[in-house]
Amino acid sequence: MSFVEGLRCRECGRVYPAAASHVCDFCFGPLEVAYDYEAVAASISREKIAAGPATIWRYADLLPASAESPVELGAGFTPLVRADRLAAELGLGELYVKNDTRNPTGSFKDRVVSVALTKARELGFKIAACASTGNLANSVAAHAARAGMQSYVFVPKDLERVKIQTTAVFGGNLIAVDGNYDDVNRLCAELASEHTDWAFVNVNVRPYYSEGSKTLAFEVAEQLGWTVPDHVVVPIASGSQLTKIHKGFHELGLVGLAQGGDGVRISGAQAAGCSPVATAFAEGSDVVRPVRPDTIAKSLAIGNPADGYYALGVVRSSGGAIASVTDDEIVEGMRLLARTEGIFAETAGGVTIATLAKLAAAGVVRHDERVVAYVTGTGLKTVEALGDTVGPSAVIEPTLEAFAAIQQEGLMR
Ligand SMILES: *Cc1c(COP(=O)(O)O)cnc(C)c1O
Ligand SMILES: [Zn+2]
Repeated sequence: MSFVEGLRCRECGRVYPAAASHVCDFCFGPLEVAYDYEAVAASISREKIAAGPATIWRYADLLPASAESPVELGAGFTPLVRADRLAAELGLGELYVKNDTRNPTGSFKDRVVSVALTKARELGFKIAACASTGNLANSVAAHAARAGMQSYVFVPKDLERVKIQTTAVFGGNLIAVDGNYDDVNRLCAELASEHTDWAFVNVNVRPYYSEGSKTLAFEVAEQLGWTVPDHVVVPIASGSQLTKIHKGFHELGLVGLAQGGDGVRISGAQAAGCSPVATAFAEGSDVVRPVRPDTIAKSLAIGNPADGYYALGVVRSSGGAIASVTDDEIVEGMRLLARTEGIFAETAGGVTIATLAKLAAAGVVRHDERVVAYVTGTGLKTVEALGDTVGPSAVIEPTLEAFAAIQQEGLMR
C-alpha cells in the first residue's frame, strides 16, 4: 500500500492525481510527490525497516510505488564506509563514504530507476524510455530487461565506449544522438509528447523517479544508528539527487525515524567544465545560466540542469557551499579515494572527493563535523579518464636480479 496523496506543484502548491505527469498545468512548475505523513508515521518504524529487504524497498512507506512486486535488481543498502585514511589526508575528523558504486549496474541510478519503472508498470506502461549521460542508460536498459518491458534509451554519441556496450548488452533499443546531453534531452521532451504510451523516466515519470534518491538519506541515517550527519557532499548533474537527499533527511523527522534532518548542511560538487550551479552559487545569483559542457565527468555533463535552481536553494538554506574542480583534480580525486580507501569510483566520484578536499581546505567542511561524501558510480565504466596517470610501477625481465634492481632504484612504494 502506498501513502501518496498526489503530485504537488513546487511553485503554486496545487495538487494533482498521481498520474504520469511532471509539470503544473496552471503555472508550469515542476510536480513533486506528496504523502500523507501522519499515515506513514503510523505505519513505519525502525523495527519494520530492519525486518525489510536489504534494498531501497525497505523504505517503501516513503516511496511512491508499491513494494509488493517491484521492478528491481537489488538496488540500495550500499555500504557506508568509515574513511579514516582519507580523512587524515584531508585534515577532517569523522568522515564516511557512501559507496554507491556497489549497485547492480554500478551507479546510484539503479535507485531511481527501480522506483520509476515500478510506478510506470503500476500505471500500465509497457515501454520505458530515457535521455541519459550514461549511467541512467545502463540502469533503464537493465531494469526494463528484468521487467520484460521494451526500452528506448537515448544518449550523446560521444559517451564512454563502456557505457554504450554495458547498455546495449541488455537488448533494448539504444539510440546514439549526434549532440550533447541537452540536445538529447530536448529531443526526448519532443518524443515524450508524441509517444504518450512511453514511460520516460526523466520526463513524464520524473516525479516518481526522483523520489528514489531519498533512500540515500534514509540509508545513511539508518547506518549511523538513526542519527543524521552534520554535513554531506553531493555531486550535481540535474540537481535532482541533491534536492531529494534534502527531502529525505527532512522526512525522517516528519515520520519520527530520526531527528535533526533539517540541520544537515548540504554541499554540492560540479566539474569546472560544466558548473552552472557552482557559478550561480559563487555569484550569489538565483539564476542558473546554461553552459556547453566540456569535462571528463560525462555523467554530470548537464549544461541546463532541470533542478539547478532548487539545488541552489537547498544548499544556501542549509548553510552548505558549491564548488567545482578541474579535470586534473577529478582524476586526482579518483586516485586519492582509490589509494586511501580501496574504492574505485568513476569521474563523478572524483568530482565529489576533489570538491570535498577543496571545501575542507577552505574550512567550509570542518574537522569537528560528521561528514558523508556520496560516491555515486563505479570507476570501471570510466577507466579511460585515468589515461596514462596510472600504470605498472616497472616492467622487468622475469629474474630475481631484475626485481632487486628496481627495488634498489627506489621504484617500490
Ligand atoms: C546522474 C548522476 C549523478 C547526478 O544526478 P542528478 O540527480 O541529475 O543531479 C551523480 N552521479 C552519477 C554517477 C550519476 O550518474
Ligand atoms: Zn503550479
